[in-house]
Amino acid sequence: MSDSAPALLHTEHYPTSTSVEAFRQRIALVQQRIDQACLRNGRSAGDVRLLTVSKTFGTDRIRLAYQAGCRMLGENKVQEAERKYEELHEELPDLQWSVIGHLQSNKAKSVARFASEFQALDKLKTAEILDRRLQAEGRSLDVFVQVNTSGEASKFGLPPDQVHAFVRELPQFSALRVKGLMTLALMDADPDRVRPCFALLRTLRDQLRNDIAHAEGMRELSMGMSGDYEIAIEEGSTVVRVGQAIFGARSTPNNYYWPETQAETP
Ligand SMILES: *Cc1c(COP(=O)(O)O)cnc(C)c1O
Repeated sequence: MSDSAPALLHTEHYPTSTSVEAFRQRIALVQQRIDQACLRNGRSAGDVRLLTVSKTFGTDRIRLAYQAGCRMLGENKVQEAERKYEELHEELPDLQWSVIGHLQSNKAKSVARFASEFQALDKLKTAEILDRRLQAEGRSLDVFVQVNTSGEASKFGLPPDQVHAFVRELPQFSALRVKGLMTLALMDADPDRVRPCFALLRTLRDQLRNDIAHAEGMRELSMGMSGDYEIAIEEGSTVVRVGQAIFGARSTPNNYYWPETQAETP
């Protein structure tokens, strides 16, 4: 795979936002594209939540995003998220944090303390530790089950054929409010290879809601990033996680955040 950002529907260079006004403009542009994608697909504009992803950007930029209207930010790494939370929670008490990356069970305690949402649940062990800590804190947490829809061995998330059995176990963790499914699509410039990942997540959700009584409430599909959110919306996304199109291009390659297959053909 080349070292460029995933270029699917969006191939533009992402300008860096360094003022409140710049954040306002970028957010408005993304929101407009989201709304248009909804309307093109017979959905209403409010159907899709925009989760702004702030990973790698410092608290100076986060303050600008906040002033431009962001009240929840997505972070891939727990330690980075917690550091930002510690620095900002007194100053901006209504700023919430969504952890969207893999969680080692020894970090579950921290997530139970500061996060409002966790989108990458893929282990019962993690569910168990989170639940225990949340009960102790008197809190609950919105969670998404992460599914590996791209079939890449090195990606996190449950294989699709294990999702039913996993979801059947979740009611025992009463502090977890299971909202739906989350996935990362294949990083590929060809929309025809990306789209099936999103379609698979939607099919899985529909099957879960049909097959498992307590899964009725699992409506959400968190799928779509800066490069591919319009395709994701066409396939039924209800939450898009957008970083670079709002904050600007990251210098850190995406494979720092999730393991990338090494053997991709050039
Ligand atoms: C970084 C990240 C995103 C956002 O990616 P962008 O290219 O910045 O839009 C979405 N989901 C996860 C899990 C991420 O780590």
